[in-house]
Amino acid sequence: MKSGIVYLVGAGPGDPGLITLRGLECLKQATVVIYDRLVNRSLLAYARRAELIDVGKQPNCHTTPQSEINALLIKKARAGNIVVRLKGGDPLIFGRGGEEAVALAKAGLPFEIVPGVTSAIAAPAYAGIPVTHRETACSVAFATGHRADFIDDPTCDWRRLANSADTLVFLMGVHNLPRIVEQLTAYGRSSDTPVALVERATLTDQKTVVGTLANIVELGAEVRPPATIIIGEVVRLRETLRWFDLPDRRPLLGLRVLNTQPSSEAGTLSRRLRALGAEPLELPTTQVAPVTDSRFLDSAINALCPKELSNTERKNQSYDWIILTSPNSASFFINRLFVLGHDVRRLAGVKLAVVDRNTAETLLEYGLVADLIPIADTVWDIVGTIGERPDQRVLLLGSQTVLSDSSATTELADALSAHNTSIETVASYTIQPIKPDPVSLSALLEHGVNVATFVEPLSLTSLATMLSNQSVVEVLSPLTVACIDPNTAEAASGLGVRVDLVAETHTIEGLIDTLVKWRADVE
Ligand code: SAH
Repeated sequence: MKSGIVYLVGAGPGDPGLITLRGLECLKQATVVIYDRLVNRSLLAYARRAELIDVGKQPNCHTTPQSEINALLIKKARAGNIVVRLKGGDPLIFGRGGEEAVALAKAGLPFEIVPGVTSAIAAPAYAGIPVTHRETACSVAFATGHRADFIDDPTCDWRRLANSADTLVFLMGVHNLPRIVEQLTAYGRSSDTPVALVERATLTDQKTVVGTLANIVELGAEVRPPATIIIGEVVRLRETLRWFDLPDRRPLLGLRVLNTQPSSEAGTLSRRLRALGAEPLELPTTQVAPVTDSRFLDSAINALCPKELSNTERKNQSYDWIILTSPNSASFFINRLFVLGHDVRRLAGVKLAVVDRNTAETLLEYGLVADLIPIADTVWDIVGTIGERPDQRVLLLGSQTVLSDSSATTELADALSAHNTSIETVASYTIQPIKPDPVSLSALLEHGVNVATFVEPLSLTSLATMLSNQSVVEVLSPLTVACIDPNTAEAASGLGVRVDLVAETHTIEGLIDTLVKWRADVE
């Protein structure tokens, strides 16, 4: 059998957005992913085809010895797999990636190295500390704090290290912080040298403690691994450059929020949560599918007519606007066009409005540019723009389940009708409950979830079905439960789940606003 290949990939320091494009490409192709403890689990969702093997190391307790990891890499590659060895940060910065590469080279197996954003630069960057800075620091050294106990270790020359560079960055140094401080001071670093400790850098609950060599041991007593230690004058720049952990700009900082939408829909909510500082945790509880009865959709498509008709004929048959209420409403609609033997030319002359940027991006994939994208994803801009023109004919496309209740889509339709717009609401797809993966749910709960969001009554039904032996009430009771609209809240209450928040405006943006207000109140 043809032997496989191993990609030693850096996953970045925590924030999943910090993996490289190349790393992501490897993950998507992988048939086996062997990953470490510090790798963000949400990246594993990209490895759809792969067997996932956790060789996660707990501090002081290596669950899988390095020799076994090397043997596993060799075995999986020899069996013809595309193996991704996914490691926190960069694979070659204190990640033992070098040893793994040596083992592969000795075994004669092909490998590639995909560098990652190391916590040694990401932690200072997210704390607002440039590791080099004109006139302040023209050199930086990365060191491990792990060996600080071994004062006689010949590979750790403290005199040399203390004076090696203007900025010193220590990884794995939390437990040995007193020793590091002592040695650096003993070898000439002034005790008023600024020091920063950045715990869980780039993640929503990143914590930064700033002090000096004289007082950091005391100030940082509560800091736990993983944390990065930055020592040098550049630490003072944080005062001016702090950006990530500013509560004003990121009002949801520190929250882990469960997003139960279908994976194809989850993007908008997850993106907004991330922008506001929260960490979205995706657990799809529903999936999307074509409508069971496509007669209404087909007749709407047939009513769309090409340009060559006369103005009067067009007037009678076509729409002035099509409003697409989600990425799926767009893609299922266009796919139905194809099934019926048409293509996007059928939309010539019709204006396209979308409720958010994600939907606009979906249209772009089909070569269509949206004519109306609401500023800041506020759908009421649509009502303003379309409603102020006389005699507009609008086709509003949404999901079957959503259209049957009092959701934002129906509200949008009502608001437009109030402006004398003739509106036809048609389902282009449907939402069905799916059995969420119990392993993912328990992994997420273990990881610590603060808020669970529901945008669809069916999500609660799905969760209830899945948690047959562990009641849904029990799982959700420690969390803040936030629902997008009264219908969803009713579905939750029906199961005995306590609902803490119901969005005032029944849109993703409305749900976000409600979370932000709630956070400000509880702070
Ligand atoms: N190869 C990794 C480092 C592995 S050693 C990299 O390039 O980042 C593990 C050490 O990395 C931890 O002890 C800690 O010092 C640092 N580290 C990893 N993730 C971190 C994070 N999110 N925040 C702060 N430090 C982190």
